[in-house]
Amino acid sequence: MIQSSEPIDRWVRPNIRQLRPYSSARNEFSGEASVWLDANESPFNEPYNRYPDPLQWGVKQRLAEQRGVRPEQIFLGVGSDEAIDLLYRIFCEPGRHNAVAITPTYGMYRVCADINGVEYREVPLSNDFALRADALLAAADADSRLLFVCSPNNPTGNAFPAAELERLVADFEGIVVIDEAYIDFSSQPSWLGRLDDFPNLVVLQTFSKAWGSAGVRLGMAFASPTIIGYYNRVKYPYNISEPVQRYALAMLDRADEVRRWVTDILAERSRFSAQLGALPSVHRVYPSDANFVLARIDDAERLYRWLVGEGIVVRNRSSVMLCGDCLRITIGTAREMDILMEALRRYHKTD
Ligand SMILES: *Cc1c(COP(=O)(O)O)cnc(C)c1O
Repeated sequence: MIQSSEPIDRWVRPNIRQLRPYSSARNEFSGEASVWLDANESPFNEPYNRYPDPLQWGVKQRLAEQRGVRPEQIFLGVGSDEAIDLLYRIFCEPGRHNAVAITPTYGMYRVCADINGVEYREVPLSNDFALRADALLAAADADSRLLFVCSPNNPTGNAFPAAELERLVADFEGIVVIDEAYIDFSSQPSWLGRLDDFPNLVVLQTFSKAWGSAGVRLGMAFASPTIIGYYNRVKYPYNISEPVQRYALAMLDRADEVRRWVTDILAERSRFSAQLGALPSVHRVYPSDANFVLARIDDAERLYRWLVGEGIVVRNRSSVMLCGDCLRITIGTAREMDILMEALRRYHKTD
């Protein structure tokens, strides 16, 4: 196991390690003042005339209290997508280093690898979607810098056993990213509690799913202060706007309401899964730790197109490895799931 954060610095691209980051007006003076004439802002149109806090300390303070971490262990990005992309830019020399990931999984890990000219090595889950830690570690070599595991995984819906994930974090000689976009819906505990044990661990979370704020674009990376320090050097200086910072603070005050939303979605997930599984053409509804279910269905392609004709859109995952004839269905309100079930029963009658 890695004990000091020294290797982290060694894994950082030399140009990033040596980077002199942009120093904004708000960086150079951040104390109390009553007359602000340092940033060429307009004196009109309060409060949006001012550049926002580049490090979003207000939001991080509240978030840190809520998640039981320290503010300097948090990076806020324009969605998780920014947090993923910056990891490549910090750790991977284009054309030289590589990333290892499970497949099937979230598509952005590969897209960001491709954009950054980084080789992306996919290691299939087993047929029943189990993690193969040995195979992932075997796919890595001395040039592997990032390892991506999404748990609960999209699109399979399952969370991986903590012991298996811990082997990856302990044995992979690089940064291990555990994407917890769906953690609020999971019976498994978050890895946030283990940040201090593993300086090479990055945990991703988002406001886009349980927190009902996909339109706002706000994602989080939690990691050692060393890694967060590199994030802060590489990001756009004012990546999170003032309206979004204010929105996040207001949303964090609504945690009880969010918990009730999650409870509703979980109840609906089990009700819908049972109904879906009872349909004759449905072979399997996979167990889910997320706010969606994956189901294997006779001629999923045909059903997908039929549902679109009814004005109902689900995600066709038929062409994804290990997901032949699978549809991924997000859990909506009870009413939305009733509309879908009613359509599915009609489909089976006309079959
Ligand atoms: C939806 C999702 C996200 C969220 O991405 P944002 O950019 O934060 O909206 C992240 N990871 C996974 C696996 C997802 O399914």
